[in-house]
Amino acid sequence: MFEKIKSIFVKKENKASKYVSCEYIQHGFNVDYEDIKMCCFNCHEGGGRQILIDNYKGENIDWNKFFKEKRKLRELNKKGIILERCKGCFFLKEREWDDEDYINFMVFNHWTQCNCKCKYCFTNEQSDFFNSRKNYNMFPQIEKLVKMGKVRGGGEIGFGGGEPALLPEFEPMVNMLLDAGCDNIRVHSSGVKYSPAIERGLAEGKLTLVVSVDSGTPEVYENIKRVNHFDKVWENLAKYAASQTNNKYKAKTKYIIYPNFNDTKEEFDKFLELSVNAGIRSMVLDVEGGWYEQNKYKVPDYIYDLLDYALKRAEDSSMKNVEVYDRANHMRINKEEYIKLRDNAK
Ligand code: SF4
Ligand code: SF4
Repeated sequence: MFEKIKSIFVKKENKASKYVSCEYIQHGFNVDYEDIKMCCFNCHEGGGRQILIDNYKGENIDWNKFFKEKRKLRELNKKGIILERCKGCFFLKEREWDDEDYINFMVFNHWTQCNCKCKYCFTNEQSDFFNSRKNYNMFPQIEKLVKMGKVRGGGEIGFGGGEPALLPEFEPMVNMLLDAGCDNIRVHSSGVKYSPAIERGLAEGKLTLVVSVDSGTPEVYENIKRVNHFDKVWENLAKYAASQTNNKYKAKTKYIIYPNFNDTKEEFDKFLELSVNAGIRSMVLDVEGGWYEQNKYKVPDYIYDLLDYALKRAEDSSMKNVEVYDRANHMRINKEEYIKLRDNAK
């Protein structure tokens, strides 16, 4: 069941106690639809997502064997050998790593059902397939790991999916991880279905919730999400915001600028006002990934302006924390260079 690591390249011989590795190699995994991978990152030269257990559908995992396999990877890193798939990854860093067997970085991505149909979602092309696809249960395996005392806090647990609140094992899983001491759980949710486990995590200041509403009016919401849950989502966001621990501001709304759908200052202003009125004090800005990949060298001026405008308006509001995701930040920082390339190509 355990995948053979096929290709490696030798970076340098490293005999020091410090060596180049990453948190996922040392103490993490990514539970995917058909396998268990080391991580979910793939935007670098090597392509990431090294498979650890191939063709996985919820079978019993021998965690002792799993740790043994991980130790082999650690030993490679100690010798200065980096996996081919990790080549160029910005998560690689040189530091001292402990030599213990435990897990504190986990990503759950093993289901695809959702109660939205976002136009920009990877499930969009085959929404019937992704919405009917059955997921396997991971809870029993994680429970075993917890009982072995091998799950710790201090890392990051992420739920992607699909909509996490629709995953039958989501509530018991989050509660178990909180009980096990996990103190940094990140959940991307559509916000349509209310989750008591998310509420608990927010109340304890150990869970970050990100809801990408992307709109300030029902019309734009329905155009992007293709469901009519606008009011329900804001109602749930207000409940989540009310439950969060003071000064932690871990319930976040997100605005993905999606050109031709929500690319006006008026729409953003309404979104910001609704966020503030719901009690949200932390938000995220991004630019839609698929659009960006196709248009990065021809981004029109008004999109750069909207990004700057949104950031300034959010910072001037009662938001305490405004996060600009990497792609959008990269766009802002390299604006002059990209505009030059764009204008020269005309
Ligand atoms: S170095 Fe990057 S690609 Fe390799 S396991 Fe870590 S996060 Fe994944
Ligand atoms: S909420 Fe997320 S998973 Fe659901 S359709 Fe939208 S992007 Fe896809």
